Amino acid sequence: MENEASVLTDQFGRKHDYLRISLTERCNLRCFYCMPENGIQLKENAEYMTKSEVVSIAKTFVNLGVKKIRLTGGEPLVRKDASEIIEELAALPIELAITTNGILLDKFLDQFKRLNITAINVSLDTLNETKFNNITRRNYFEKVRSNIKLFLNNGFKLKINAVLIKGVNDDELIDFVEFTKDKEIDYRFIEFMPFNGNKWDWSKGLSLHEINTKISSVYGASVMKLQDGKNDTAKSFKIENYKGTFSIISSITNPFCDSCNRIRLTADGQLKNCLFSNSESNLLKSFRNGDSLEAIILDSILNKKKIRGGMNSHSDILNAKNIDWKRSMVSIGG
Ligand code: SF4
Repeated sequence: MENEASVLTDQFGRKHDYLRISLTERCNLRCFYCMPENGIQLKENAEYMTKSEVVSIAKTFVNLGVKKIRLTGGEPLVRKDASEIIEELAALPIELAITTNGILLDKFLDQFKRLNITAINVSLDTLNETKFNNITRRNYFEKVRSNIKLFLNNGFKLKINAVLIKGVNDDELIDFVEFTKDKEIDYRFIEFMPFNGNKWDWSKGLSLHEINTKISSVYGASVMKLQDGKNDTAKSFKIENYKGTFSIISSITNPFCDSCNRIRLTADGQLKNCLFSNSESNLLKSFRNGDSLEAIILDSILNKKKIRGGMNSHSDILNAKNIDWKRSMVSIGG
């Protein structure tokens, strides 16, 4: 079935041309909002997609109309054959993007330059080393900071992701905005989201409104609203005369599902039509059986819920803490 633009369109008319592929459930950090302290129970190796399975299944999606692929994890760059997978996916007619914790980025500088991979998101939830160690339960602060600097010095524009949690890093909000003063970065403030094992409770989250109020109270009229793209998850802003920008991803208080174009493939080959959908389609098993994947993919897309996997209202999402989430964030890839 050759690139029929409407194929990945759901019952609400949303065309899904952006695939997020989790390359692994392994990570060299233990961020408390993403996975339990002792990590998660990893599956047998055979249950995970091999390199050629990642590439073949990705090609199926590209043939169905996917235009952008983002590699996530766990930490995608800890996968031993990550560089080979990146090389093969970069040869497809897509924009290849990556979300990483930045620890191993320096090892990929030359490859990313050569392949012109510029859509790079790096997680950095704090600018304070002690706090970094507390949030991630590892001490790679300097490594992440120096790799961010390395990439900026090599002309990359970076997006920096920070999950804002009250009593953890909400006191750094203005420091994060100041970090954009002289750097080509977009600091993205993510509302804390519910997943298996992260002891989520919205009372710990910082909302779009609270973030905007705090920033406006400091910068007043210097805060400029920027034009957001059609499928953007983030609402973007800029402080006048600052080099960088900041943006807010508000899945909890201001969901952006109307223009959702995202689908997810987990490291164990399950298709999730929404970040919050607890139902999945086992593409890997079908692929290994030599079955056609198109029908399974279309079925998943057609069964996609309008908002947050069916959590339509704010009270629905507040009730999320009572839901038996199948996966922790580390095994979805955000
Ligand atoms: S919550 Fe689901 S439907 Fe909404 S934007 Fe995220 S992935 Fe799309």
